[in-house]
Amino acid sequence: MSVITVPGTGAGGWRCAACDEDMVMKPVELTYLNSQFTVELPVCPQCGYVLIPEHLALGKMYQVEQLLEDK
Ligand SMILES: [Zn+2]
Repeated sequence: MSVITVPGTGAGGWRCAACDEDMVMKPVELTYLNSQFTVELPVCPQCGYVLIPEHLALGKMYQVEQLLEDK
């Protein structure tokens, strides 16, 4: 299974507010529409907090679907 990258989440600069640690890009499993996706998202290496980009958190997962269709 290929890993989806979300535009706007790469290129670093993310920081965990709780730990003040630089977040690292890691594949994270998400479930949407009964399907499991592996999406590369910023994760805090200290506490494991996953940064869900706003456009994903708001439910606009069609962007992920489009990315899947491109594969
Ligand atoms: Zn943290």
